[in-house]
Amino acid sequence: MDDGWLRRALAAKRDGERLDEATWRRIVAGYVAGTIDDAPVAALAMACAIRGMGNGEIFALTDAMIASGDVIAFGDLHPIVDKHSSGGVGDTVSLIAVPLVAECGVPVAKLSGRALGHTGGTLDKLEAIPGVRTDLSNEAFVAQVRSIGCAIAAQSARLVPADKKLYALRDRTGTVASVGLIAASIVSKKIAGGADAIVFDVKAGRGAFMRTIDDATGLARELVRLAARFGRRASALVSDMEEPLGAAVGTGIEAVEARDFLRGDDRDQRLSEAVFAVAREMLGVAGVPHDAVEPRLLDALQSGAAYERFVSLVEAQGGTRAALDAIAAHPQRASANAPRDGFVAAIDAVAIGELARDLTGVDGPFAGIRIVTRVGTPVRAGDVLAECAGPSADVAAVERAFTVGSSPPPARALLATIVRDAEATPSANAQGRW
Ligand code: URA
Ligand code: CA
Repeated sequence: MDDGWLRRALAAKRDGERLDEATWRRIVAGYVAGTIDDAPVAALAMACAIRGMGNGEIFALTDAMIASGDVIAFGDLHPIVDKHSSGGVGDTVSLIAVPLVAECGVPVAKLSGRALGHTGGTLDKLEAIPGVRTDLSNEAFVAQVRSIGCAIAAQSARLVPADKKLYALRDRTGTVASVGLIAASIVSKKIAGGADAIVFDVKAGRGAFMRTIDDATGLARELVRLAARFGRRASALVSDMEEPLGAAVGTGIEAVEARDFLRGDDRDQRLSEAVFAVAREMLGVAGVPHDAVEPRLLDALQSGAAYERFVSLVEAQGGTRAALDAIAAHPQRASANAPRDGFVAAIDAVAIGELARDLTGVDGPFAGIRIVTRVGTPVRAGDVLAECAGPSADVAAVERAFTVGSSPPPARALLATIVRDAEATPSANAQGRW
């Protein structure tokens, strides 16, 4: 086979040139078909990671990746909204925001992932509720959104197979960290999943993929710009992941936290702030008038209707109201305590995420760690910092994940910024279907 064109394209990319749309299409199609092997694609990914990618290149790659598999269509039901979090610890927002936004009249078709490294996965949390399944066929996913307004499902292998292959290669070759490649990977999956409007929650901090607010904002802009080029209305939050988001960190105990939040039994303030920020953006990108957003959200929550919508989702996906009512944290508890007087200066989200994951691996989904004392809180020696559920809990390691200092740390806002389409590209609204 004469692959001179591919060698020339790689050399051009190496030298900082931009590849045209046809070349991107040819490479993606060849890679998925197996006529192009890993070596040239790894070299290309490395060139992209080092040299960067032009907007046209990111668009062309995304378009080619979407074309590699199925695209879900919802018929005449519009706008379909999805949200995507770049991954975090104690990020229970999806389980709460999906039924909440659906109850406000906006259909939500949420495609989610599994736990990865120290970060939790929405699918694992939902499946902790006995009976609940997330492996919905495309047809069942569409039918459920059409009938009850929301679904949370695993992305099927038939959606964007190019991403599956490319992501695995990037993982092996040190080329995950490229804003263009990340944006193409995320946006291609959201568009193939049928979303008309998308909210991205890009995490920044030690528990996140992007360590700094600047880096996270760069990715947020790229995600919104790229979605807009496909005619999708999008918004991206940049939010703090220096410490776990919600109080609960685990799989099943995060489902318990979502249930209790929706039912109004218990609402962690930090989690609440995140839920409202994400839900407001979801209604906003769906075109709900600005003045109607807040009253609709409050009414859906306070009336209990959002909770009933969550029950409907659980039932539609194989669970029961009784099973949802019955879930609870593992009864064997131990507390992690402050070693001295002072202030909670830091909570290592990566360590907490990993400890919770190890714990659920051994003691089951309802083991985990509940953060009791947040960053900035004054403590006395012996005060409870966290509660560990499950007999295998490494309490000393949980205590070490907390730093108790002598003075309060500088305050960090949960929400660093929100990027909306108009800010990312002035013409975004004119390109879309909106
Ligand atoms: N998440 C994705 O889905 N893709 C990436 O490339 C990085 C994070
Ligand atoms: Ca997710």
